[in-house]
Amino acid sequence: MKTLKQGGYDLFKGRTLIVATMHKKENVIAPILEKELSVYCKTIPDLNTDNFGTFSGEIERKDTPIETVKAKALAALEKSTETLVLASEGSFGSHPSSPFISANEEIVVLIDTKNNLEIRGWHLTTTTNFNHQEISTISELIEFAERIGFPDHNVIIKTNTVTGKIKVWKNFESQEELKSTAINLLKGNKSIHIETDMRAMNNPTRLKAIENAVIDLVKNIKSLCPCCKMPGFSIVEAIRGLKCSLCNLPTKSVKAYIYKCKKCDYFCERAKENVSEEDPMYCDFCNP
Ligand SMILES: [Zn+2]
Ligand SMILES: [Zn+2]
Repeated sequence: MKTLKQGGYDLFKGRTLIVATMHKKENVIAPILEKELSVYCKTIPDLNTDNFGTFSGEIERKDTPIETVKAKALAALEKSTETLVLASEGSFGSHPSSPFISANEEIVVLIDTKNNLEIRGWHLTTTTNFNHQEISTISELIEFAERIGFPDHNVIIKTNTVTGKIKVWKNFESQEELKSTAINLLKGNKSIHIETDMRAMNNPTRLKAIENAVIDLVKNIKSLCPCCKMPGFSIVEAIRGLKCSLCNLPTKSVKAYIYKCKKCDYFCERAKENVSEEDPMYCDFCNP
């Protein structure tokens, strides 16, 4: 009897998956992947993902988020004998379409070197406490800390030394410790810089965004190529030109997506779900 070519996300079943993190991201990632893909998740004890850039600015991120997340994943695999790995990378700043709103973008990537597969998950949210401020009094410190959700969410304090080097204080265990650090620093500095700690273990709001990116990844993994049945048949391009419901002319809104298989290169166009026309409010002809 001819054996069927293995396909579907069954090809991950029973395998060990390395979660490339040193910031406790496995707490949200492992339960989802173990349930959805029947894998066993483990971390690498001596992995240092800070080499790829830190949020507090001690080490600059040199590459794009997608290059960084892939490099992190492969660095973790190199330290193990496994062939399946997941890494995540976050970015913070203004929302791409609303510059006055802060946003958090999370990318996760699953790399399977045994089957030569790379599948991504993505989540963009305005639910973030990402913030920073110059403070010169303890009441400003307390106000900032309360606003960003301390102590469940932590903060980082930075000062400039005379040589122009940035010094960083982090991992505060209580409000007393945070206060006494700031009191001491304000004796020698007119003001100090305080910012939200965006590392996953110190930021439950960010951890939730990572969880949503992992849910998106699982959705992409479970999307199988109609041609070769490999997982990861997902969106590679958006096609704009959704028709206006009033004048019937094309708008800038997305009408369809191109889905592509990373394994056999088969691709097809699929209309965006649950939308057939655009509100004239977003039409350049009806509402210029
Ligand atoms: Zn395919
Ligand atoms: Zn129109």
